[in-house]
Amino acid sequence: MEEKKQHSTAENILYLLRHVTKVDHTYLPALAATLAVKLALPIVATLLPTAAVAALTRGGSMEQYLTVILGLMALYALGTAISGYLTQVMGLKNMRFRIQTFVPIQFRKALTMDFCLLESPEGQKKAATADAALRSNDVGVEGMLRHLEPWLLNLIGMVLYGAAAVRLDWRILLVLLAMTGANYFIALWAWRFNMQTKPTADTFLQGQKYLRREGEQPANGKDIRLYHMEKWLMDAHNACVINRDKWRRQSFGRRALRSVSDSVFLVIRDALAYAMLVGSFLDGNIDAAGFTLTIGIISTFTNWLNEFVTTSDDWRYETLEVDDLRDFLEQKDVLNHGPGPDVSQVKRPPQVELRDVTFSYPGQERPVINHLSLTIHSGEKIALVGLNGAGKTTLVKLLSGLYKPDSGEILVDGMPTTDFNATEYLRLVGTLYQDVNILPFTIGENVSGREDYDRTWVWSCLEQAGLKEVVEAMPKGLDTSITQQLERDGVNLSGGQQQRLLFARTLHKNAPLLILDEPTAALDPLAEADLYQKYARTTEGKTSIFISHRLSSTQFCDRVVYMEHGCAAEVGTHRELLEQGGKYAELFQLQSSYYCDEKEVQHENT
Ligand code: ADP
Repeated sequence: MEEKKQHSTAENILYLLRHVTKVDHTYLPALAATLAVKLALPIVATLLPTAAVAALTRGGSMEQYLTVILGLMALYALGTAISGYLTQVMGLKNMRFRIQTFVPIQFRKALTMDFCLLESPEGQKKAATADAALRSNDVGVEGMLRHLEPWLLNLIGMVLYGAAAVRLDWRILLVLLAMTGANYFIALWAWRFNMQTKPTADTFLQGQKYLRREGEQPANGKDIRLYHMEKWLMDAHNACVINRDKWRRQSFGRRALRSVSDSVFLVIRDALAYAMLVGSFLDGNIDAAGFTLTIGIISTFTNWLNEFVTTSDDWRYETLEVDDLRDFLEQKDVLNHGPGPDVSQVKRPPQVELRDVTFSYPGQERPVINHLSLTIHSGEKIALVGLNGAGKTTLVKLLSGLYKPDSGEILVDGMPTTDFNATEYLRLVGTLYQDVNILPFTIGENVSGREDYDRTWVWSCLEQAGLKEVVEAMPKGLDTSITQQLERDGVNLSGGQQQRLLFARTLHKNAPLLILDEPTAALDPLAEADLYQKYARTTEGKTSIFISHRLSSTQFCDRVVYMEHGCAAEVGTHRELLEQGGKYAELFQLQSSYYCDEKEVQHENT
């Protein structure tokens, strides 16, 4: 797993700017205009009282002063209006950038990144933490961009006013800088605490989210109620909330200390500035207007300075969140996404050969697939059986091209699967997994996987899967939504109907390599027998692998592969393996005797 890369605030700002300027050509001009107006406003605000005091104390033409004062007031009012408007514009731009550009970038990554990365615990953690950077206006991506304008404004203002302040009285500037320095170190101390403790605090947040999500799943709802798990889940959730809150209070407490120090320093600053300036005024070094101007400059300068430290501090937190997002987005795919052999040239049905394949999941030492060698001939039907944990589903993931072997090769028509472009390779494989995954869209969309589809072909697949009549009876036919999540008149399918729908989806793909991973687990015996027949028919002209715990179902397959500890322990026809008298035969006898016993019991009862 790659190390998480940390970027400096400047690097992250440039990264966001690169993206935002690509999609929004008016972003930088709007930012520059906002800065210009917001820089000019405090200058006018400082000059206004100075002009008023000068009018009162220096004598001269009242008319002239009034014109200047009124002019400045009009300018200030206009500037405030423009500034308000531009602030709204920038706010909108930043928000749109987060929602319309970055949220889709994150979503696309989740949809297209290599499945093996997404499925890994590390990938799941990255996906969960990346969310924080896009959660709201004030954090991560949008927070950093929002703070760019005040940061630049404060920096420029600070330099301009600092230059003016140093010319007036360098001692004041020195005091201000010392205070700001102290503030900076308090902020840094608070941030360091945050940095060190955030990963642990994030796990509480993830726990909280996870428990809520699972608790809201109807599939879990039954068990939760039936086994009175509410209190247990609630307590686990609340423990996460309490721990997260404890951390938040510690973190915010440290940050709040900076606000306290701000206020204390403000009083000291004012006391010192007034003392020095009153002294200068009494000595006759400055007049009343000069006094007002200097106080104006010093207080504005202090504001710039303080705001600059505050914004830099906010950035320091936001940059951590942007780092988390980048860590998720910049995960490097491990499969081949470059050019590869032309999949349309692969013979139909293909031959698949596993050559000494070994594989273990990331972070696990024990191989799940262990030096497995097996040839599946073109058009052959293979039954893959074995106890739980033998590695069957993992083998399916390898054959599907979702993972690649650690060593050894899987060859399709003599070409290593890893040579193919990973996305192209998927065109060769149609897999029906045991875990049901139907999205809350229409039946037609679920079967075809897209919005615009060939309705005749979808109806034909539904017919082959034995679901046509059920769908025909629905008011909107193919356009009926599954579940009521998106449409009020959506339907809920039974377990068996869901399996058939997924089967129709597999048929729709019409891939030459067909893999069915325990597809009848949720079915009653009649539906199961019916589906077996349908599978048998649809596997014609395809190379197929069929995984099932019901060993009777292996009989329509050409050969049986009995897997144990990631190896092909026994390979042969059903009859050969029974004659061999090995593990498969033992398991088959066990299942048959169970059925026989059941029959005997039924006979005795009648
Ligand atoms: P089967 O399908 O034969 O029941 P699996 O291929 O599902 O076996 O699992 C084989 C082994 O791999 C089991 O020990 C299981 O715990 C482990 N395993 C399965 N999926 C993962 C995963 N995504 N990450 C880590 N370990 C896994």
